[in-house]
Amino acid sequence: MDFHFDHSWARDLPGTYLRLAPDPAPAPRLLAFNRGLAAELGLEAEALEAGAARWLSGAELPPGADPLALAYAGHQFGGFSPVLGDGRAHLLGEIVTPDGRRFDLQLKGSGRTPFSRGGDGKAAIGPMLREYLVSEAMHALGVPTTRSLAVVATGEDIWRDAGRLPGAVLARVAASHIRIGSFQFLAARGEAEKLRALTDYTLARHYPGAEGALGLFDAVAARQARLVAQWMGLGFIHGVMNTDNMALSGETIDYGPCAFMEGYAPGTVFSSIDRQGRYAYANQPLILGWNLARLAEALLPLIDPDGEKAVEIANARLAGIAGLYRTEWLAVMRCKLALAGEDPGDEALVEDLLKAMEGADWTLTFHRLAGAVEGEGLLRPLFEDFAAMAEWLPRWRARLAPDAAALLRRANPAVIPRNHRVEEALEAATAGDMAPFEALLAAVTRPFEENEAYMLPAPSGFGRYVTFCGT
Ligand code: AMP
Ligand code: MG
Repeated sequence: MDFHFDHSWARDLPGTYLRLAPDPAPAPRLLAFNRGLAAELGLEAEALEAGAARWLSGAELPPGADPLALAYAGHQFGGFSPVLGDGRAHLLGEIVTPDGRRFDLQLKGSGRTPFSRGGDGKAAIGPMLREYLVSEAMHALGVPTTRSLAVVATGEDIWRDAGRLPGAVLARVAASHIRIGSFQFLAARGEAEKLRALTDYTLARHYPGAEGALGLFDAVAARQARLVAQWMGLGFIHGVMNTDNMALSGETIDYGPCAFMEGYAPGTVFSSIDRQGRYAYANQPLILGWNLARLAEALLPLIDPDGEKAVEIANARLAGIAGLYRTEWLAVMRCKLALAGEDPGDEALVEDLLKAMEGADWTLTFHRLAGAVEGEGLLRPLFEDFAAMAEWLPRWRARLAPDAAALLRRANPAVIPRNHRVEEALEAATAGDMAPFEALLAAVTRPFEENEAYMLPAPSGFGRYVTFCGT
């Protein structure tokens, strides 16, 4: 079995990683395997599946692997940690596909590293399957994201607040694991040459058309603005937009406490540790700008040798982020509403819809618009008070593109990973029954197909949903 590994990170970026092997899993057992992704990577899916329990758990290194723990820093909930790094992950190498694309293959939950601090380096089955499920759903929804190749139960129990839980390792595939925090790590140490090397590396790997620190900044800002606009369109709440969890590739990364909003409420927060609502739904675009400011800060020495001038240039760039995001967001919303072309009144049209739909299920409201192109379809039962919506609908209809119903069906998913369904599947998996997980995965990876059983919001008895960081 040839993984077609290369190790450009190890070669090009000394001083940004530690070389060390994952912990061997004592009794590895394959829980989930992504045949489609294996094939997309140009790997022999059958041979990989046969060896996955060993190779993707740390039990045995895959041929050609050279495992690394990457160093990075990060602002966590606004506070800076100069050294975070992979505390429970090992980069096995970069898979180079037959057509020359390069992807990181990383194990997560694969044991302690010098970056672990107090942590045990491990992960439980539930959070790893959760990342598998939600990242594959995001991919099917058309959102740039890291992917999941496999989850392997290690055969080892770990201890969490909830008690003793079965351990697991996730095999994650990413365009790269370069984070804003990777730049902050070098900037905080005053390593200007290494910072330049990382900038060049990132440009070559993700933005070959761009040049220099400013070129990199602009390219990343554009990708991340589009990414957050897509999250907003889907009601996706990342939950922990720390600078170490924002990828320079513009992919969604780190699915710890994320969840999809059900009833529309701008202040929605799910994460148990986000007590101030820093990463609430409606704050995500502001945090995008805040995080990009941290990237610009890290790049300052490369922007201009004159410190004051560098700050001036960076500030001018940062002043443009809100507008950049707004343009991306409006494009997403125009698409979700199947509007014909662009009209100066579109922003107000969207804002008025948002006002009218407070409390109504985000996903179902948009999904049911396809049936409301003529007549109100099945919208009314989603609203406690339909008056504002009834006024809004004719204004919207006057702006529709030809063939709007088909466009709406393509833009607005029927199925998202509903919180109660996710919990139910993970609970069963933890108890040894993978059937609900498999059924849910099948539904969320065909999100534009109507599937009654997986479309409905949580029953009222489910209560307020709370998520925990992926430990
Ligand atoms: P996260 O909030 O998952 O992005 O993780 C933040 C930091 O904590 C990263 O440096 C992780 O590697 C580290 N970390 C999270 N969970 C564990 C764990 N169980 N053991 C060791 N390090 C961890
Ligand atoms: Mg992280």
